Amino acid sequence: MTLDPKIPGGPLPDKWDRHKFESKLVNPANRRKYTVIVVGTGLAGASAASSLGELGYQVKSFCIHDSPRRAHSIAAQGGINAAKNYQNDGDSVQRLFYDTVKGGDFRSREANVHRLAEISVEIIDQCVAQGVPFAREYGGLLDNRSFGGAQVSRTFYARGQTGQQLLLGAYQALERQIGLGTVEMYPRHEMQELVVVDGRARGVIVRDMVTGEVETHLGDAVCLATGGYGNVF
Ligand SMILES: Cc1cc2nc3c(=O)[nH]c(=O)nc-3n(C[C@H](O)[C@H](O)[C@H](O)COP(=O)(O)OP(=O)(O)OC[C@H]3O[C@@H](n4cnc5c(N)ncnc54)[C@H](O)[C@@H]3O)c2cc1C
Repeated sequence: MTLDPKIPGGPLPDKWDRHKFESKLVNPANRRKYTVIVVGTGLAGASAASSLGELGYQVKSFCIHDSPRRAHSIAAQGGINAAKNYQNDGDSVQRLFYDTVKGGDFRSREANVHRLAEISVEIIDQCVAQGVPFAREYGGLLDNRSFGGAQVSRTFYARGQTGQQLLLGAYQALERQIGLGTVEMYPRHEMQELVVVDGRARGVIVRDMVTGEVETHLGDAVCLATGGYGNVF
């Protein structure tokens, strides 16, 4: 079996921007003609499904649990890192990238880690806009702490409940799209197999955990957001 991460070419800091620029766009009026299947409703899946729904795609969202809010993302406690350098203590995208690669024992894919460091800066603002109650200083600005042995204070947190609060934010965004009709939610559905057509993921076989019925759902793209390595499909 060949594992191909399909990492874009070019210098590390430019890879993903270049990839985004070179990718073909879908006209806003045509997006509703495409169905995207998203498996998992943790922070990754709920964000992907609601963002795709907001963009105008037809989304089908699946999770094993009875509610998207039960995803394991709820367990994260420490906080979320972002290279905003609010503390003016020398943080940067490059430093967050370096720390994350080092913290990952040099086993992470560097291109993906760089992308994570790049978008970390915007994610905090998005979460705040969604209503995530991050801790604030007395003056009202977002607070930071040094976490996980980092030499800088770049961790944004919501007491010991960061994962839960982030998931509530992502869940609300998902529910909004469900209400608007762009996302169709399938709770208590376990994905059992991926449908691959001509080398592309085009659907999923799922089991309805209430009735036991096995169903096939087809789409134009499939996004697997089923959790960490332990749950890798
Ligand atoms: C105790 C703990 C503390 C942590 N603290 C932090 C922290 O402080 N900061 C930090 O950045 N990270 C932290 N993490 C890591 C972080 O929480 C996770 O990496 C992240 O939440 C994973 O999100 P996810 O959406 O990929 O997966 P998950 O939240 O695990 O979601 C997986 C989803 O996939 C669904 N699913 C799985 N398999 C199937 C299937 N076959 N069919 C249908 N649905 C399926 C599940 O129902 C669920 O909805 C912590 C993790 C833990 C466990």
